[in-house]
Order: sequence, then structure tokens, then C-alpha cells
Amino acid sequence: MEVELGLTLVMVPSTIDDMGLRKPISLDVVIFGGGITGLWLLDTLVRMGARVLLLEADSFGAGQTIASQGIIHGGVKYSLRGMLTPAGRAVRDMPLLWRRCLAGEQQPDLTGTLHRGEFCHLWQTSSIASRLGMIGAQSGLRVTPHKISKYERPDVLRSCPGTVSRLDEQVIDPGSVLEIFSDRHRAHTLRIDAASGIEFSTDGPGQIRLIRMINPSTGDTLDLQPNLTVLTAGVGNGGLRDQIGLSTKLMQRRPLHMTIARGSLPMLNGHCIDGMKTRVTITSTKDYADRTVWQIGGQLAEDGVSMESTLLVDRARSEIQAVLPGIDLRQVDWATYRVDRAEPSTLGGHRPDTAFARRDGNTLTVWPIKMVLVPQLVDQVVQQVSINAGDPLQTDELSDWPRPQVAIYPWEDELSWLTDH
Ligand SMILES: Cc1cc2nc3c(=O)[nH]c(=O)nc-3n(C[C@H](O)[C@H](O)[C@H](O)COP(=O)(O)OP(=O)(O)OC[C@H]3O[C@@H](n4cnc5c(N)ncnc54)[C@H](O)[C@@H]3O)c2cc1C
Repeated sequence: MEVELGLTLVMVPSTIDDMGLRKPISLDVVIFGGGITGLWLLDTLVRMGARVLLLEADSFGAGQTIASQGIIHGGVKYSLRGMLTPAGRAVRDMPLLWRRCLAGEQQPDLTGTLHRGEFCHLWQTSSIASRLGMIGAQSGLRVTPHKISKYERPDVLRSCPGTVSRLDEQVIDPGSVLEIFSDRHRAHTLRIDAASGIEFSTDGPGQIRLIRMINPSTGDTLDLQPNLTVLTAGVGNGGLRDQIGLSTKLMQRRPLHMTIARGSLPMLNGHCIDGMKTRVTITSTKDYADRTVWQIGGQLAEDGVSMESTLLVDRARSEIQAVLPGIDLRQVDWATYRVDRAEPSTLGGHRPDTAFARRDGNTLTVWPIKMVLVPQLVDQVVQQVSINAGDPLQTDELSDWPRPQVAIYPWEDELSWLTDH
């Protein structure tokens, strides 16, 4: 449409009506939340030619994804009794799929992702005859542990009394995956004010007719008319469900209290197994000053939920001394961070086994449970999408909207560090 303004002829976007008001934008899909789930889904839908926008309330991955350890699990952690559990079955095909995406052999193309490691170690604290090597064989997993000789062990595992195995589970830097998607889909992502800049009009619980949004930079309003809305907002799904008349009881939070160690440490990725439990899971990366950073999860992070930070650090120090005999921790700083895992409710609040998607009206609420399960979950969501052959979305009309940044890692954030040196 062309409008004459004085002597200047201006192109007015087609979404502006004769009264100068912006017409609602009709969309195949609106996605709420730009963690790994929302961004992977966005990438898939854009490739399918869908008219889609992703709305992010904070920064990409600001919930769980940026805080995660980035292990592409193949199921061993869930099959320590030697049996193939439902959780093990759900993830066992995922490492190969991720490997292909990371190598650019399958979509989404994730070449450029930073790798923290190509494999993990599994080790034990006692010399009791190890069952580690048997786990994969007994359980029918695709990625199985292989016992390594004393000479193949990294120095930090040399004094461990039990078996040490190698497990071909890659460890990726989740922030770099978020960066790839964010750069690729900048035009389709908008930052929103979730607290006061969003209003839903519904025709019943979960049946969204219109989403009215206020541009956080300009104060202008924009209306969206989605055929399908997908909630991929992690813990934010609870509040969103409430806003559209759906029960919040569908969601549970399972908290973790993670420890970070920083300083003179070797690079190590892996799990120390104690009985049927993962006593600690350690993943390593470098911070902005090129110091080694260990994220320490596993049972320690579950037990740590009830502890204050200083108590957890004390416990972490002694756990690390116990599981890595002889390690020198004199040049190490310590900190902790809390994060909630967002999941569908289970009886007793246990970990669900598989990725979750539920439809109410024209809204899907999803949680992947694990980052590795995101591709499986996105496949399920895509089955629910119908694409109306219409004009491609003119994203240049949204150029005045602020775009989200990628979240920063917990250890680059403001934490109180405890130091012994
Ligand atoms: C400590 C820890 C370690 C983990 N380690 C692993 C691992 O090694 N391997 C593995 O496979 N899995 C791991 N996981 C699980 C994995 O991190 C999660 O399953 C996955 O990251 C969930 O991604 P998501 O995109 O669904 O949610 P999130 O990453 O939580 O993203 C949700 C997004 O929605 C946004 N948002 C929130 N509210 C709103 C709103 N109202 N409107 C719009 N946007 C909103 C948030 O800002 C955020 O960007 C770990 C989890 C934790 C906590």
C-alpha cells in the first residue's frame, strides 16, 4: 500500500489498515520460550515454511538450558541396574541423531557448536568387581561403556581403585547451540514483557483466539492470531497455562543445587557411579579468563537442595576428594547455583521417563525432560502443525521489536565465590 505524506511517498507495511492501526498477524504457530526446545522447534518450522514467531521473556535458554551440563546421554545413567528402563529406551537413539546434526549431516545443522568433550568417563570409588562394562550389553543400549586400561586413564583418574570406562557420550556447550539458532532466526524471535506486556483472548481453556503484545521498546501494540500456540517456556509454562485458563497442576519443579569449581583443575567429563546412583557428574569448560570450570551435578546436586551454599561447598570438596583420590584442590574457587527442572507432574514427584506434550484447545504444553530428547519432542509437535499456504511472514515489519540475547552461564554471572587460597 502507498500513502502520500506531504511530498514524501512512503511504503506502509501491508499489516497497517486504513485507520493506521496494525492488523493482527495470522500465524501457523506461536512459540513461547526460547530455550533449546523452542529454538529447535522454530528452526524446524521455518524450514517447513511455516508462518511462525518465537516470543522470549528474558534471554535464550535463561532457565535450564544455559545451566545444563550438555551431556548427550545415551541411557547408561538410567540403566545402572543393567536393565533397559523406559528412560533408557527413550534416549538410546538420540546420541547418533545429535552426532549427525553436530556434523551437519542432518537438520538442524548444528555445525559450529562448541564441544566440551567427545566422550565421558565412568568410574567407581571402590574396587568391588565392576559391573560397568556389563551395563550396555545387558540393557540393549546403543552407547555402551568400554573398560579402559590403567595406562589409558587420564591422570586425574589414575588412583581410582575401581574400573574406569569410556562412554561415547558427547558433551556440548549448550550456549553455543543457542547462539547458532539465535543468529539463524533473529528475524523470527521477539523479546516480550511477560509480566505486563502480554494479553490473551481465548474462546475457552487453551483455545487462543488472539495474543496482544506491547512492544517493550516503543509501547506499540501488536496482535497475533495463531492457529497453534506451543508453550516451551520451561518453568514459565505454569504461568502461561494459568493465563489461558489451564491448570498449573500439570507441572512439577524438581530443584537442583549445583556446585561450580573454578581454577587449577584438569578437564574431565564423566560420572562417578556408586551402587545404582551417579554420585557426582562432572563436566568441564573454560570461563572468559580461560580458567577451567567444573559443573558438579549428580546425587550431590540433589542432596544439596536442602543445604546452604557454604555447606554444599564443604560437602562438594569432600566428595571430590573421595571420588578423585589425590586431587589437589588448593587453587580452586567454589560457588553454587540453584535451578529448577520443569517437568510434567508425576506421582511422588519422581523424574518422568519420556518427553511430554499435551494439547488443550489450540495450545500445546511441552517439556523435553532432557535436552537430548528435544528432537523427539519436536517431531511430536510437528505432527500437530498444519501449515496454511499463505504469504510468507514479512518479518521486516517487526524490525522495531527488541531481540533476545543468549543467556550467560551461571559461572559468568554474579556469584559469591568461596576460596581457600
Ligand atoms: C543443572 C542441569 C543439568 C542438566 N544437564 C543435562 C544434560 O547433561 N543433558 C541433558 O540432556 N539434559 C540436561 N538437563 C535438562 C535440560 O537442560 C532441559 O531438559 C532442557 O534444557 C529444557 O529446555 P527448554 O527449552 O524446554 O527449557 P528452558 O531451557 O528452561 O527454556 C525456557 C525458556 O522460556 C523462557 N520463558 C520463561 N517464561 C516465559 C514466558 N512466560 N514467555 C516467554 N518465554 C518464557 C525462558 O526465559 C527460557 O529462555 C539439565 C538440566 C539442569 C537443570
